[in-house]
Amino acid sequence: MTQHADVVVVGGGQAGLAAGYHLRRQGVGFVILDAQATPGGAWQETWDSLRLFSPAAYSSLPGRLMSAQPGETYPDAQHAVDYLTDYEKRYELPVQRPVRVEGIHRDGRRLRVETDSGRWSAQAVISATGTWWRPFLPSIPDRGVFGGRQLHTVQYRNPGEFAGQRVVVVGGGNSGAQIAADLAPTTDLTWVTRRPPRFLADDIDGRALFDAATARRRALDTGDADTGGVASLGDIVAVPPVREARDAGLLTAQPMFTHLTEDGVEWPDGTRTRADAIIWCTGFRPALSTLAPLGLRGPHGHIPTAGTRAVGEPRLHLLGYGDWTGPASATLIGVGRPAREAAREIAGVLRA
Ligand code: FAD
Repeated sequence: MTQHADVVVVGGGQAGLAAGYHLRRQGVGFVILDAQATPGGAWQETWDSLRLFSPAAYSSLPGRLMSAQPGETYPDAQHAVDYLTDYEKRYELPVQRPVRVEGIHRDGRRLRVETDSGRWSAQAVISATGTWWRPFLPSIPDRGVFGGRQLHTVQYRNPGEFAGQRVVVVGGGNSGAQIAADLAPTTDLTWVTRRPPRFLADDIDGRALFDAATARRRALDTGDADTGGVASLGDIVAVPPVREARDAGLLTAQPMFTHLTEDGVEWPDGTRTRADAIIWCTGFRPALSTLAPLGLRGPHGHIPTAGTRAVGEPRLHLLGYGDWTGPASATLIGVGRPAREAAREIAGVLRA
């Protein structure tokens, strides 16, 4: 049996919920299909000590402020999960879970959404599947010869299981810095970054990143010079645990090694460092496999968009993956605006 909706939103993390909020305001019928068993999207999966890089009020979706977490300027991931759980309930967003979307297909004037528990037919689809589900590992010579443990950010939980071990953490972004700071006190840590780590000034956090992303978008839209966006500020927000580890001298980074050995890594000058585990904090790619049947893939694995709308399929909108789907759209505070634009555009087409 095929179920019908004006709009199917794929993914019930923050981006999917923000879409739902604005679709409701536009009076459009919709359903949100989410593969997770419980609310909170990727925030449910992160390491225990993760800190958001913005204070609570600056980590809010449209319509409802995130309350401060008692005793913490920068909330933890559970606080974000609680916030999204409450948000979904408060706005009575119609989220069905766990429902995994397997593919989106053209079907005459509509789009067909195939899931692991049935089929939907929609006039438009918003894809909001995030990036966490597609971890990226760089290619490195001799990856297979290393006899120790290799894991990605997505598999790391806490320092407990690494106590006393020799651990190499690779990555100069927020994940790499936070996980290195987490491990530094109890392990023999080697932190490796491709270029020297760039900490943002201690008084700069996600608020400034959001402003920088917005200013860049504005400049590009009006034909002004590229301001450089968030990249111009630095890579690592010095949230308190990172700041403390850095100030204690525990966060000094080595440049990249050349290859793996049976029991560690080898540096360009031929010296070797032994390791029990290597943790790759090397980022993510957009989780877009459900869109493969539409044949829209462009350069860098992205799908060309005008705003949030896919250029090659105007009934499809993409939300939350990064600046290419709206400035700071891969953040709690930033996804509201592109969600509003997507909902407005879809509502306009449905009314026409
Ligand atoms: P997700 O949270 O990943 O939600 C997507 C949902 O879609 C998931 O529930 C998933 O199960 C579901 N899904 C995926 N595929 C399918 C499918 N085929 N069918 C059905 N459902 C599917 N942002 C901030 O604002 N502040 C921060 O401090 C911050 N810190 C971050 C730290 C880390 C380590 C990372 C990785 C990101 C951070 N971000 C931060 C960025 C961003 O806010 C989060 O990644 C956020 O989880 C993105 O939300 P989303 O809704 O786009 O994706």
